Amino acid sequence: MKQFIFILLLINCSILHAQEDVDVINRRTIESHLSFLAGDALEGRQAGKRGGRVAAEYIKAVLQEAGVSPLYDTYFQSFEAYSPAREKSSDFQVHPDSVEKYRQLPAYRRLNLQNVVACIEGERKDEYIVIGAHYDHVGVDELLVGDQVYNGADDNASGVAALLQVAKAFAGSRDKPLRSIIFAFWDGEEVNYLGSEYFVAHFPRTKDIKASINLDMISREGLLPILYPEFKIPEATEKNTATGNRFHLLYTHELAATGRRLQEVAPSLQPAIEPLPSLIDHGSRGSDALSFSLRDIPVLWFFTGLHPDYHTPSDEADRIDFEKLTAITKLVYISLYHLSNDE
Ligand SMILES: [Zn+2]
Repeated sequence: MKQFIFILLLINCSILHAQEDVDVINRRTIESHLSFLAGDALEGRQAGKRGGRVAAEYIKAVLQEAGVSPLYDTYFQSFEAYSPAREKSSDFQVHPDSVEKYRQLPAYRRLNLQNVVACIEGERKDEYIVIGAHYDHVGVDELLVGDQVYNGADDNASGVAALLQVAKAFAGSRDKPLRSIIFAFWDGEEVNYLGSEYFVAHFPRTKDIKASINLDMISREGLLPILYPEFKIPEATEKNTATGNRFHLLYTHELAATGRRLQEVAPSLQPAIEPLPSLIDHGSRGSDALSFSLRDIPVLWFFTGLHPDYHTPSDEADRIDFEKLTAITKLVYISLYHLSNDE
């Protein structure tokens, strides 16, 4: 475990500190964050519902305890999304023009949402790296017979647990990063990428966001059929499915060099993990990375792929590969270290 930073971070004397910082990341804490967020008590963390608000309070409390300050006046960036009455929820919008249009209707629907956003200031206050993970999921289905809670353990308690640990590792560091780092926990991704869209649309200096990292479903294995047609999604099993060490490392062209460095270092982690690199276009859909790539902000995106429990009540904590998730969290730390410090 100790050697990998030395392979990679041959930059300056902050190498030793970076090694101490990454050692903060541990499986036990990741497991406790994930288990809380994916517990039945959080009712599937649906956007605008009680369970979602409890998740936001939890994230805030962890950030506060780690000493990561809010980006704005408070940790919560509250916002509203609107849709016409009786339309599908995917029609919820945060764009001011759509909001204005819907509010003219005789009846419209409104969702009250909140991102949780924190920041560690860098030497260069006017350059930002945004790292984000959505914390919402799809809630409860009371018509289901049997387990009614969509726990969203992989989707996306895994990304949130990883990001909380990465934030803590940076907050405890003796070194200030070169660029400011924004740690963002998005609401409303499952509805229509609402939280990330609202954040980027209202960020006063989008041009100063030098890169973004997206974490969404990073603790299982099920490769994307589009990219790996020969891969068969494994059958659903009862318990923890430690099915392999591969994951998708997706990036827009600007971050190809970062992608290559991560490929070099990943095999030296414990357990070794194997990135499957893929270049993606600006505008690639599927997660909050879209809100950034559409505005020409470079994207790096971690994703362990689809599996039989995807968007079902069986996406539960006991099916998570925590060893793999811990190794990916360390690689996320390393990627953020590079993006926030390299010239
Ligand atoms: Zn997701």
